[in-house]
Amino acid sequence: MREDRVFNFSAGPGVLAEEVLQKAQDEIFNYHGTGMSIMEMSHRSSSYQAVFDHVKAQFKKLMHVPDNYEILFLQGGASTQFSMIPLNLMSITGKADYAVTGNFSSIACKEAAKYGKVKCVYDGKRNGYTEIPSQDELQLSSDASYFHYCANNTIYGTAWNYVPETGNVPIVCDMSSEITSHVVDISRYGLIYAGAQKNMAPAGVTVVIIRKDLAGKQMANTPYMLNYQTMIEKDSMLNTPPCWCIYMLGLTLDWLEKQGGVEAMEKIKHAKAQMIYDVIDASALYIGHAKKEARSDMNVTFRTGSPELDGQFIKEAAAQGLVSLKGHRITGGMRASIYNAMPMEGVEKLRDFMLDFERRNG
Ligand SMILES: *Cc1c(COP(=O)(O)O)cnc(C)c1O
Repeated sequence: MREDRVFNFSAGPGVLAEEVLQKAQDEIFNYHGTGMSIMEMSHRSSSYQAVFDHVKAQFKKLMHVPDNYEILFLQGGASTQFSMIPLNLMSITGKADYAVTGNFSSIACKEAAKYGKVKCVYDGKRNGYTEIPSQDELQLSSDASYFHYCANNTIYGTAWNYVPETGNVPIVCDMSSEITSHVVDISRYGLIYAGAQKNMAPAGVTVVIIRKDLAGKQMANTPYMLNYQTMIEKDSMLNTPPCWCIYMLGLTLDWLEKQGGVEAMEKIKHAKAQMIYDVIDASALYIGHAKKEARSDMNVTFRTGSPELDGQFIKEAAAQGLVSLKGHRITGGMRASIYNAMPMEGVEKLRDFMLDFERRNG
């Protein structure tokens, strides 16, 4: 690690691998002998097309995306998908089921209600979004166009540890803050989406994996930029795609492949998070936000019970090069986002700091 860098626990935009940033720097003035940067290059050029095709192929290979699915690179963030999904899929039956387990799924649910009959099949608000429902708790409809859930709740630090059983109803999943952290059986889903800035790339590109037969069912008034079918037909290049972000995503995917792919990330992600959860569980000072069985390996949320002490924790940690530990404004307290590019060494340093801080303030 470079000496001028910190351990960045930001929830998003999140940490990128140093090797990825180095490669981007090396290629920034002259990409592969073209004499120009990727940022200055026509998206219709053969040089850029090669980049684009490589990124898509890498994503397909590393995430094991079956042939009957299309991979799209779109703009507008994961939040635009909150509208794009109902616009394109709601007309199947006019209804959709949403499980609300946090802030983003709550927004997605409200947005979808503009386009059809939405049933909230679970709402974790009453428990302060500390839990994930069991299969039995989901009041699923058999005639929904789709069932939507958010796999990892970035703000509250909870995660689904199973894929719900929905019968013939396609599953739509927001994987923004966990995509590429573990193996996913894509065939269980109708559509998966993820803003890239949590675990993959800079902000500006959203990856959508859609089962091809689900495209083309959009409402008549669907804006052309929000139409999956046209985006599939134009291979995400209906207009200028977020060229630079897609290139950066490619560098991350190449790095991921060298690390051993999502399989390797799955092996270490739990050990990394557990190191912090072990401190919380053995502590008389730290209080975890999520119920044990709902804990996220990506975003670890905790507090001391005293906002002043939380503030002191965040300040002292930052002075030691452990930064962006402040929790979301909704939850307060602390949040350590432990994405793929966070080295084990950073988590160990955070653990040691937490133990030391408790010794001094517990
Ligand atoms: C950050 C985040 C979003 C919002 O992403 P944008 O790209 O900023 O729109 C949606 N869902 C989840 C789970 C997130 O973590």
